[in-house]
Amino acid sequence: MNGKVWLVGAGPGDPELLTLKAVKVLARAQVVLVDDLVNPAVLEHCPDARVIPVGKRGGCRSTPQAFIHRLMLRYTRQGKCVVRLKGGDPCIFGRGSEEVDWLAAHGIEAELVNGITAGLAGATGCGIPLTLRGIARGVTLVTAHTQDDSSLDWAALAKGGTTLVVYMGVAKLGEVRDSLLAGGMRADMPVAMIENASLPQQRECRSSLARMRQDAARFALKSPAILVIGEVAAAREALLACSA
Ligand code: SAH
Repeated sequence: MNGKVWLVGAGPGDPELLTLKAVKVLARAQVVLVDDLVNPAVLEHCPDARVIPVGKRGGCRSTPQAFIHRLMLRYTRQGKCVVRLKGGDPCIFGRGSEEVDWLAAHGIEAELVNGITAGLAGATGCGIPLTLRGIARGVTLVTAHTQDDSSLDWAALAKGGTTLVVYMGVAKLGEVRDSLLAGGMRADMPVAMIENASLPQQRECRSSLARMRQDAARFALKSPAILVIGEVAAAREALLACSA
């Protein structure tokens, strides 16, 4: 009988932000295919599993998706319980659903297990409420990086009135700034750039839309980082100012 694949979110980095469900599934895993952004500390929950790094920064320079598919097929055909461990949530810029579809097409049972996505963890961890009554009535998660170079409707995002959380934006700060300014967003809109969210080496840089690129350069902002763009990105400063 075929085994099964669990596509599990490992959360943003802090091993304590792993879900109980993820911990239970890891404990049963025989093979664990691990992406780059997963904190290796979470592997303490699968001490007996065979762990295979499949991220771009892992064993191979760039592990082609086809190779990952082949590994999943090979081990499930051996009847093994396979965990595909991804950073954050498997379905937020994580291709989780594409892998589920591919597995289904090959007759392999698959199940998704939520993780806390980096954008939500990073903001809350820095005291930024992504939604706030009377100020931010919603939040939009976007990626600045697309494989097909298709562009987002930045003008609509600039006017949408929701907090923007931008993934994979470190190398695109100038483009994001220009697109939002052209779309009519205020130059002094607060921005928070959060690097290594939830990890001991977390750093945050507060800035504004117009200044974010220069400030990030001065700060030597590195990936992985998320950008929070919106009124709420000044939240902690405002709270501190109130209490001062
Ligand atoms: N599935 C993941 C996102 C993968 S895309 C999730 O739900 O979090 C990779 C991008 O996620 C990175 O470029 C960065 O923008 C963001 N990211 C992942 N981990 C992060 C972390 N610990 N701190 C800040 N950003 C992070």
